[in-house]
Amino acid sequence: IVKFQKVRKSFGSAEILKGVSLEVGRGQVVALIGRSGSGKSTALRCINGLETINSGELEVCGRAMHKPGLDLQSLRKDVGIVFQSYNLFPHLTVEQNITLAPRKVNGTNVAEAQAIAADVLKKVGLQDKANAYPEQLSGGQQQRVAIARSLAMKPKLMLFDEVTSALDPELTGEVLKVIENLAADGMTMVLVTHEMAFARNVADQILFMHHGVVWESGNGDMLKQPATTELNQFVCSGL
Ligand code: ATP
Ligand code: MG
Repeated sequence: IVKFQKVRKSFGSAEILKGVSLEVGRGQVVALIGRSGSGKSTALRCINGLETINSGELEVCGRAMHKPGLDLQSLRKDVGIVFQSYNLFPHLTVEQNITLAPRKVNGTNVAEAQAIAADVLKKVGLQDKANAYPEQLSGGQQQRVAIARSLAMKPKLMLFDEVTSALDPELTGEVLKVIENLAADGMTMVLVTHEMAFARNVADQILFMHHGVVWESGNGDMLKQPATTELNQFVCSGL
C-alpha cells in the first residue's frame, strides 16, 4: 500500500532523506524509530503529500506520488495523519470536530455524519463525550478525539507522528491502547514512536532510520539483538 524506492528529499542544501526504500503491506503496522533529525517525520509527511520528494519513486494507495497530476484531496481521504499536537477546534464540540470533514469534504449529511462520529468515538472509548468541548477533556482524551476525527474519513492508511510524546506518562497508555485496537482491526498504520516496548509488541515491521536512510529493519527481536552498532547505541541510550 506504500512503497518507497530510493527516495531522496532535501530542504535547501540539506539532504534529509538519502535514498529511503521501504514497503508497507495492507494491514501491516510499521514503526519508524531513530534519533531526532533522522528523517522520520519527513518520511511520514511524504506519504500524505505534505512534502514532495526530489527523486526516487513513492507509491501510496495506488498513486505515484512522484508523478505530476496527483490529486491531493483524494489522497488525503485515503491517508489519515495524527500529530503530537491534536489541533482540535476549541469552539466546536467533540462531535462537531469529528463531523466537520465528512460533511465538508465528503458531503455526508448531518445524520449520517453523526452516526459515523458515534461509531468512531466508540472505537476510541469516548462514546459519552460527543457533546464535550476539547478543553473539558484530558490530553489523552483529546488525542483520542483527534484519532477518531481521522478515522471518520474511513482512511485506508493511518499515519501517527509521536502521538503520545506530549502526554503525561499516565495518559500515554490509553492512546497506545486505541492504536493497538486499530491494529487488531486490521488497520494499516505507519507510526513514528519513541515507545520501544509498544513498537516491539504491536509493529509487524520496525524500521530504524539513521542519517536519512533505513539503516536496519526487522521485527521486534531486532531491538533485542541489533545487527548494527548504530541501532545498538540507539536502543541503549533509551531515546
Ligand atoms: P524528531 O525525532 O526530532 O521528530 P525526525 O526524525 O522526525 O526528528 P525530521 O522532522 O524528519 O526528523 O527532520 C529531519 C531534518 O530535516 C531536521 O534536521 C530538520 O531540521 C529538517 N527539516 C524538516 N522539515 C524541514 C523544513 N520544512 N525545512 C527545512 N528543514 C526541515
Ligand atoms: Mg519528527
